[in-house]
Amino acid sequence: MTDESADGNPSQERGEQARYDQARYVDDGQYEPLLAEKDRTEVEIDADDSPLPDDLTRDAIELPELSEPELARHYTRLSQMIYGIDSGPYPLGSCTMKYNPKFTEDVAALPDAAVHPDRSEGSIQGTLELMYRLQDYLARIGGMDAVTLQPPAGAAGEFVGIRVAAAYHEHNGEDHRDEVIIPESAHGTNFATAALGGYEVVSLPSDDEGRVDLEALEAALSENTAALMLTNPNTLGLFERDITEIAEMVHDVGGLLYYDGANLNALLGRARPGDMGFDVMHYNVHKTFATPHGGGGPGAGPVGVVDDLAPFLPAPRVRADGSSGSEQTYELFDPEHTIGQVHGYQGNWLVLVKTFAYIARLGDEGLTDASAKAVLNANYLASQIDYDVPYEPFHHEFVASAGEQDAADVAKRMLDYGVHPPTTKWPEIVPEALMTEPTEVESKATLDRLAAAFDAVAEEDDETLAAAPDRTTARRIDQTSAARNPRLSWQALADDE
Ligand SMILES: *Cc1c(COP(=O)(O)O)cnc(C)c1O
Repeated sequence: MTDESADGNPSQERGEQARYDQARYVDDGQYEPLLAEKDRTEVEIDADDSPLPDDLTRDAIELPELSEPELARHYTRLSQMIYGIDSGPYPLGSCTMKYNPKFTEDVAALPDAAVHPDRSEGSIQGTLELMYRLQDYLARIGGMDAVTLQPPAGAAGEFVGIRVAAAYHEHNGEDHRDEVIIPESAHGTNFATAALGGYEVVSLPSDDEGRVDLEALEAALSENTAALMLTNPNTLGLFERDITEIAEMVHDVGGLLYYDGANLNALLGRARPGDMGFDVMHYNVHKTFATPHGGGGPGAGPVGVVDDLAPFLPAPRVRADGSSGSEQTYELFDPEHTIGQVHGYQGNWLVLVKTFAYIARLGDEGLTDASAKAVLNANYLASQIDYDVPYEPFHHEFVASAGEQDAADVAKRMLDYGVHPPTTKWPEIVPEALMTEPTEVESKATLDRLAAAFDAVAEEDDETLAAAPDRTTARRIDQTSAARNPRLSWQALADDE
């Protein structure tokens, strides 16, 4: 709560200003036609020499006939119909959508960045060195001993981590362990991972302060515990202060401690999961380092483990194999008890190249600075908004409550103020949750603009909220029908009509 907002007017004005600043012209309901629907012309093809069977060839094809500016305008217009990381702030809590420097894209676009993965080891030493150094960077950042780069997302990393844990227990003759404990505030992928890994899920309630309830944990732990999955700071942005005690309790019953790395942004350069007692973790490199991952990827979810678990990591990994002449050389190898290969070749390679470039450019100081600013920005923004933030002190993200308002409607309405809304309705311990993560890259002016949008929406009535958004190209989308009855080609759509 700020003094200013107490009487309502100044913050409403700020909101109006934000809305005005953002005003963009969108013709009502006018979608940009596809290129295929624009001016078309028939182009003849000489198919006579084609080796293909006749029924697979054609003599003519219809192509759009457009000038260069028409083409440029088409794509520019499409880019303006959507809200992206380059349009404005994107405070999607837990997902960490931040602007990432464009130089990482330049690095990934270098011709040498992507060599054919089937080339001989001797001819891709640079690629192997990059992998080796990235494994090492990530291990040092997480306090882990060994890293695999293969998993293509955080969720895939969780699955690999849990399979590695299972292989470890089995190797030790402990395959009776059939339970994975997960706090109820955890991300849905944790539950799905444990279930897909063949485990019973034991759900752990939070204490009154939003953290792991130690008594409940004591009761849940047993000789059947395979692992406890935690993220720290947790999904409320709260640091698990008892983490070393928690680690001890889990280890005492022979279980493993899994770290969900989605919240690593808060710890970068300051604290390491390995030092807290975690045995295995994934890194959502598309959340913490570079590559904004909106729209379904691609991302990458490397997995780090302590020494005891290293022999079970996916194959192949990279190691330094001594030197040839004055040069260090690198080779692929299969860990001794590997769970096998989990992705073609080395995972989502160019995402890993961007991760490497980002870490190398920022260095120790830059990464430490990023976590400081992520935490500062979250705390500043939380202090500026009228919505209640029930749990504190939080770190790089906070969960506000929309109170009597419907959080999903609040989110739709924020779009009208030219900002992207936070994650909504999760975690469920906060009613009508607005889970907000401004990230380290936003300026004070942008945070103020975000706060103005929050506060303007906080004062609006249900009717206004339910009618929102009214300034976006697409309004309320029927998501259920879109998912159940997808129309995947414009032609099918045209034929339907
Ligand atoms: C995003 C997220 C995941 C899943 O990671 P993906 O990279 O999206 O597959 C898991 N846990 C938490 C807390 C997350 O925020």
